[in-house]
Amino acid sequence: MSRVCIGIDLGGTFIKFALLDESMSLAGALQLPTPASAGPDGVIETMISGATELLDREGVSAGDVVGVGIGSPGPLDLDAGVVIGTPNMSDFVNVPLRDRVGDGLGIQTVLENDANAAALGEYLCGSGKGTDVMVMLTLGTGVGGGIVIAGNLARGAHGIGAEPGHLIVEPDGEQCPCGQRGCLERYASASAVARYARQLIERENRKSILTEVLGRKGDLDAADVNEARRAGDDLAAEAWDRAISYLAVGCVSITRLLDPDLIVLGGGMAKAGDDLTEPLRRHFTRLHWTIDTQKTVLALASLGNDAGVIGAAGNAWKQFG
Ligand SMILES: [Zn+2]
Repeated sequence: MSRVCIGIDLGGTFIKFALLDESMSLAGALQLPTPASAGPDGVIETMISGATELLDREGVSAGDVVGVGIGSPGPLDLDAGVVIGTPNMSDFVNVPLRDRVGDGLGIQTVLENDANAAALGEYLCGSGKGTDVMVMLTLGTGVGGGIVIAGNLARGAHGIGAEPGHLIVEPDGEQCPCGQRGCLERYASASAVARYARQLIERENRKSILTEVLGRKGDLDAADVNEARRAGDDLAAEAWDRAISYLAVGCVSITRLLDPDLIVLGGGMAKAGDDLTEPLRRHFTRLHWTIDTQKTVLALASLGNDAGVIGAAGNAWKQFG
């Protein structure tokens, strides 16, 4: 067995494990439910036992493991390797995750936030392979992001950069939980699509396929809106297009600042495929400056939900390889 790094992606529902060899190829993977009700101790125990199980299953001895990379929701103190808090696990407060997992496995370990890990995963093994400057946008409940420049994650001077979801796209716009108003994620996330469609139904009493869906399910999601749009529903088309035009505002702003080779789109909303990229490219071209030709490419992520765990392992290679 060649040398490997272990990636562990801590999510609110699942903990994912992966082995990545030196050529950045996947050498094994495992997924376990997150025992969130067992608190930090139970979660850490599962992270250690899952990694051990995967090594045993793949016949890898501890001596062949170069390092462990963890991707975790945050905020995090990266220097100290500590999870300050996470939205999905309320008792995860000031948990020294890096050292507890690393000591448990007896292997050097590095911690990274999950959005950055996913960006690194796409850069090393996914759509971003071969690029120099790559930005990833994850379109889900919010808009997450990660920036890779010349192989390195850009985190800013205080470790809190690379938050494209909180670019202000509408001064004095909708209140964001971060404390600002008019953040991109209030307008361009999967949740924003659903929220806007619902507002159009409730405020304007407009006729739409979604009225029946909302009545039946009690709620809407971005996939419902896209499905109705595909069936020719005007209200759904308006909600979808509004979100994507805001997303294009974000993409143009990112392009002005970083001139990336590629902006990669991931998260639940990226499952819409061409229904996302085609109108996004159209709005991007409409908003893009004309003093130079458009060079930045907009494309879908290719690793899906595995980007985070692969990037976490890749981060260990970068740190310890
Ligand atoms: Zn915000």
